[in-house]
Amino acid sequence: MAMAENFVRTKSGLVLRRPPIVSHDELTHSQIELAKAAHLALRNAHNSVEDIRVGAAIKTADDRVFIGANLRGSGISRHMHAEESALAAAEMSGFMDGIRAVAVVSAPYGPKLPCDTCSKMLLIRANESGIDTVIITSNVEMSRFSILKITDMFVNRNLPHGELDIDMKPDV
Ligand SMILES: [Zn+2]
Repeated sequence: MAMAENFVRTKSGLVLRRPPIVSHDELTHSQIELAKAAHLALRNAHNSVEDIRVGAAIKTADDRVFIGANLRGSGISRHMHAEESALAAAEMSGFMDGIRAVAVVSAPYGPKLPCDTCSKMLLIRANESGIDTVIITSNVEMSRFSILKITDMFVNRNLPHGELDIDMKPDV
């Protein structure tokens, strides 16, 4: 089914577009640099529940970079995602005119798109600022990437709360 190769339905029912896997040749120099920052951030990940580590790096409209990593402890249901910890770091700096790009590096599985909650937070930022955020994802080896804009990630960009406008079977 061709549709299932291009879209993913998240656990909460949101339908997101899944970009093709590309090599680093498809990225610009600054996108590679941002992915490297996310890769460094991944070293700060703390996950005592499972061996999943994620690093994120946000580049703001004024060209500052903020990093974050996932934080998860056993016995605690709350799991802070790398993207939200990077976003919190950016927010606490007093920024926010908009987010130019976000890089996310995941281990051991990757590239992985931001989850639906993080994606919605980024989409809301894009809608508020008018700056369409480029999402760059990579595996930890930095051999496989994907790139897309946050507004292209959502099947319907004007519905950030997860309403669906296509019919498909879930594949996650
Ligand atoms: Zn998330």
